[in-house]
Amino acid sequence: MPRISSNTIEQIKARTDILEIVSDFVQLKQRGRNYFGLCPFHEEKTPSFSVNPSLGIFHCFGCGKGGNAVTFIMEYEKIDYVEALKRLAERYSITIDWEGIEDSQKGEVALIYELHEIAAEFYQKQLLAERGRSALEYIEKRGFDRKTIEQFRLGYAPDEWESLFRQIDLNRFTPAILEKSGLFFRREGNKIHDRFRNRLMFPIINLAGRVVAFGGRALDPNEEAKYLNSPETPIYFKSGIFYGLNFSKDAIQKTGDAIIVEGYTDFLRVYTSGFPNVVAGSGTALTLHHSRLIHRFTKKVTLCYDGDEAGQKATERAGFLLMREGLDVRVIRLPESDDPDSYLRDHKPEEFRELYDSANDFMTYYIDSHSDELNSPAAKTQFVERIAEELIEIKNPVILDLVVGEVAERINVKEEHIRAQIRYIARRRTNQNRGERSTESPKSLRLRTADEKAEYELLKMILTRHQNLQTMIKNFLTVADFRHPVMHPIAEKLLSDLSSGKLAEANELFNTEWNEEQRLYLSRLILEADPLQYVENMDDLRKLTSDCIAVLLTRDIDAEIAAVREKIKAAEKKGEDSTSLVIQLSNLRQKKRALEDKIKA
Ligand SMILES: [Zn+2]
Repeated sequence: MPRISSNTIEQIKARTDILEIVSDFVQLKQRGRNYFGLCPFHEEKTPSFSVNPSLGIFHCFGCGKGGNAVTFIMEYEKIDYVEALKRLAERYSITIDWEGIEDSQKGEVALIYELHEIAAEFYQKQLLAERGRSALEYIEKRGFDRKTIEQFRLGYAPDEWESLFRQIDLNRFTPAILEKSGLFFRREGNKIHDRFRNRLMFPIINLAGRVVAFGGRALDPNEEAKYLNSPETPIYFKSGIFYGLNFSKDAIQKTGDAIIVEGYTDFLRVYTSGFPNVVAGSGTALTLHHSRLIHRFTKKVTLCYDGDEAGQKATERAGFLLMREGLDVRVIRLPESDDPDSYLRDHKPEEFRELYDSANDFMTYYIDSHSDELNSPAAKTQFVERIAEELIEIKNPVILDLVVGEVAERINVKEEHIRAQIRYIARRRTNQNRGERSTESPKSLRLRTADEKAEYELLKMILTRHQNLQTMIKNFLTVADFRHPVMHPIAEKLLSDLSSGKLAEANELFNTEWNEEQRLYLSRLILEADPLQYVENMDDLRKLTSDCIAVLLTRDIDAEIAAVREKIKAAEKKGEDSTSLVIQLSNLRQKKRALEDKIKA
């Protein structure tokens, strides 16, 4: 199993900012040292979800979820640790260095990058060579010049099974690496062959300017798959990349808008027609990751998909998705028979500019597209029900408010009508969730007895990071003194850290594999301990610490005392002699006092 190198993990952790990560999903407001927002893990009206950027952790006082940035991504996306690290790497454009158990797998990423570079160069050479003539003609017929070919590194994969394969130095690249690169595959007979054959090749380039994958357009009209794309590989995460963004990101930032098209040739056409602020999905429908990626460069996007029905469906899907992430979405509506490429071939750029400048916002586009469904009150009701299902996904309440107002006005219904529908759906979903969650562990702390409260306070005192308190605890207590099932393993970790001389940083504490309840305790402990780091008068904390230590150390004696008392009572009831029991009791009390004195000393 390949794993992410510790070097990369360090890099990811160093770059990751929990406030940024959570803000991708949750609207946060600062309150003191913490930021608060509506919890993404449970339904709530008042914010009880908190993020503490200096500690690098989050905690929800409502449902008890807590952890660091990696935990957050894991919980939010319902993915495992490695996947979460991959998302973070993508978010911060960090190239993952994978390493396997074997030495030979080291540097695998570097080799796969190199293969892509070899392939890009090879394909381009073929395009400009004799056997690429029909491909070149195809490109030139469509009006793309040499400059475009060179800038975007267009190429041609010859109609052979091994043309790229023969270029590879097999002493350097193992068959396993070739397969993993996605550029080759194994056919029956175990022979390795080129994946791309007789195709016009579009290299997909990441933000760092490196070729990470290819899209291949079939040149044979009888070929079933018009487009063939690289599979996901260690260097290519489909949802994390836009075709062309490496070329257009500056223009996007400058204009404050990104035109999103569907295809590679759409991209090239729009880009070369004087609209360099364009990107294309790389052979896949848009995902949440795409919307977050583009959101890093702009707050506004303009969709320009095919004019036909399929294009309209894709526009609606993408529009809601992008809007949900807080982007301001506009739509260029093309004539039904056009795509951006064909439109710009048949029309002047100025005409496209006009369409662009007069592009409607997405909600207007959506309502216009469905205006025929709004001609009766009953139809309108159905429309509201359908649109409420989409609007409820908008996490930013300010945007939601705006959109609801807009929709209400456009279709001429009361805003309250739409809001009521949204509330209805929210309630229905909450009830469904409740049903599913009934077996889950409790979300609040279960500190019923004085002992449990003392254990909790002591762990908190360790986390205040005051050394004198830590020393007191270390001197008197061991892991065995922490008996609460959830806190015991936390105590084990903290005490072992203390004895090794270095208590891990707050967010690092979550790198241990805790269960949900342990994370609930841990994150709440950390949050409560944090402000105590800065108290000036330590007397109260010292008193609290020694009282709690006393509770834990004397609880066995207390239990014995209670038992002896019961025995004395029983003896007296029966009229038996209780002298020895009374002496026992007095000894126990003495022992307890001595212990308490020792703690206070
Ligand atoms: Zn919550």
